[in-house]
Amino acid sequence: MTLQERDKKHIWHPLKQHQTHPNSLGIVKAKGCILTDEHGNEYIDAISSWYTCMFGHCNEYITSKVYEQMQQLDQIMFSDFTHPAAVELSEKLIGILPENQAKIFFNDNGSTAVESAIKMALQYYFNKGDKRTTFIAFENGFHGDTFGAMSTSGLSVYNGPFEDFLINVHRIPVPNGTNTEAILTQLKDIVANHKVAAFVYEPIVQGAAGMKTHDNNGLNSILDFFKTNAVLTIADEVMTGFGKTGKNFASDHMTIKPDIICLSKALTGGLVPMAITSCTQEIYDAFLSDDIAKGYFHCHTYSANPIGCAAAIASIDLLTSEEIQESIQRISKAHQQFSERIQSHPKVKSTRNIGVIFALDLDTNMERYGTLRDLLLSSFMKEGVFLRPLGNTIYIQVPYVITAEQLEKVYFTIEKVLNTL
Ligand SMILES: *Cc1c(COP(=O)(O)O)cnc(C)c1O
Repeated sequence: MTLQERDKKHIWHPLKQHQTHPNSLGIVKAKGCILTDEHGNEYIDAISSWYTCMFGHCNEYITSKVYEQMQQLDQIMFSDFTHPAAVELSEKLIGILPENQAKIFFNDNGSTAVESAIKMALQYYFNKGDKRTTFIAFENGFHGDTFGAMSTSGLSVYNGPFEDFLINVHRIPVPNGTNTEAILTQLKDIVANHKVAAFVYEPIVQGAAGMKTHDNNGLNSILDFFKTNAVLTIADEVMTGFGKTGKNFASDHMTIKPDIICLSKALTGGLVPMAITSCTQEIYDAFLSDDIAKGYFHCHTYSANPIGCAAAIASIDLLTSEEIQESIQRISKAHQQFSERIQSHPKVKSTRNIGVIFALDLDTNMERYGTLRDLLLSSFMKEGVFLRPLGNTIYIQVPYVITAEQLEKVYFTIEKVLNTL
């Protein structure tokens, strides 16, 4: 029996309607940018396995550091102890995060990084005797699948069964260069009538929405409004963090820095799940008290797992290396050229690119998990490229270590498949 057949017996996959989509391809090996399936076929991983494996799969530098760590210290309760890898990671992160970030809190995945940020914001005000009840978020954002994170995400048809249990969130449009004044007027109204704890946002690029970019100046004005109105700002950099936008963090493109930052995905280079919620000294200080209950009583069993920390330290070493920084610039330039080349294709409505992220919108309406999307996905796979369209958006987010030939094959495959539509 193939893996695919054995899988069907006991496994329930995420994001899947098993009745119409019963098959999951067995992947048995991944190295650099190449995935190998159970039949020996190879695919270029053009979306870095959901933006995680930015330094290539099974990167030898990362795996060697993890192997060293595994022989030294595997797991330790972080409520009672600390350890060298956590301390070193905190120092490295503070060294590259926006300058106002001072404290590092550990979580397990992107959703819980956001969940934790939401709880931090609520308790920050609660501890000051100021009970806040509402959040603000962008329309069509994505922040994860736990209740708080799901609530701050844009309303989705997949949220139906849970709608009655979501936390209170007001939604604003993303700034597009012409609507900033209208958004500020809307914000004044929301803030005057509700007790708003925080604004949760994906800075500059909304990933799951289809790698949608928005206006930096508009975002700065919005963040500035929140600063002057004592509303905390939570940047969800789970997707944008660690070099994707051409800078270490998307918030580095902004003049106004967030109070809280959520990180995951590329944090460990795709090796193990781990997440961080970082914050300013001011937020941390609001939890200091002789009263125990003012502390932050939120914990995951695997908080600051040493293996995860070792993978994250190694990933940051690579990110900050000259070689990777040059690759990011190289991919960024190649995307720009591809963008100019594909823009005039009759099936293409628009293109956008920032850093190693490239996206194009097709000139058709497509359901997020509809048949055209399935056809595109399988056509790309037949050509040996793994690309996963989001609605009518085809996007590329390749590992930084991709070769020029592999990248050209990704571009060529997109053109070839578009020509068959
Ligand atoms: C993926 C993602 C999340 C959720 O992370 P998980 O690890 O899947 O829980 C949250 N925010 C953004 C912006 C993401 O891209």
